[in-house]
Amino acid sequence: MVEVVDLHKEFGDAHVLRGVDLTVPTGSVCVVLGPSGSGKSTALRCINQLESITAGRIYVDGELMGFREGTHRGAPALFALHPREIARQRTKIGMVFQRFNLFPHMTALGNVVEAQVQVLGRSKSAARARAVELLERVGLTDHRDHYPAQLSGGQQQRVAIARALAMDPELMLFDEPTSALDPELVGEVLAVMRSLAETGMTMIVVTHEIGFAREVADQVVFMADGVVVEQGLPEQVLTSPREARTQDFLARVL
Ligand code: ATP
Ligand code: MG
Repeated sequence: MVEVVDLHKEFGDAHVLRGVDLTVPTGSVCVVLGPSGSGKSTALRCINQLESITAGRIYVDGELMGFREGTHRGAPALFALHPREIARQRTKIGMVFQRFNLFPHMTALGNVVEAQVQVLGRSKSAARARAVELLERVGLTDHRDHYPAQLSGGQQQRVAIARALAMDPELMLFDEPTSALDPELVGEVLAVMRSLAETGMTMIVVTHEIGFAREVADQVVFMADGVVVEQGLPEQVLTSPREARTQDFLARVL
């Protein structure tokens, strides 16, 4: 389960997240919608500890991310974790971005092997076996010896998903994973994400793919101006939104 409690993020004077609350039960899929600049990417980056948070708490499977609870002069206080501890926490979370960021000088297989060896300390042979299995799962067995430049955008994104899964994450974050793709390649990436959801992976997905939200999400969250404006079951939020801002947004994207 992921629990985000009163999350705030400021960049200088810009108060970008203004008290985000979010609960994503284990094994469920949460789709996050919202206009550009509403703080969706920032929220994901905070969950994944790519950004330090200004205030609030983030728990992943009960573990407080980035901090340790303690006391200071007798009062409860939070202490920032050592970067090494933060790095350990981050291995539980896989993230897939709009841009695939594969290593260009490594094959698909090499890309999926690399972090397993470097970060998890797996043996080359164990990492390779896992990579072979994951590339099969994303439908790329025939392409595993291809370099990123020899793969389509959709194939590259599927390698990026396999690479994230190779770390055996408990949570997968997707930040507009299909928005850089040509329209005909979107479906193959969404299909991989859907099958991942069917395996029971806990997922938070920022996307404007409303069809995916309708069919795969357990909950849909609409963000605007750094807060969660509305959340609920897909049919409720997408078909009969309560809030005017959600209605306006959906009228523009649907
Ligand atoms: P989009 O749909 O365009 O991806 P978003 O909802 O993901 O938008 P964010 O990228 O989270 O929005 O940005 C939210 C706000 O935070 C924006 O106003 C953005 O300019 C600001 N912001 C994000 N990152 C930084 C940063 N590193 N420094 C300063 N401001 C930032
Ligand atoms: Mg974004």
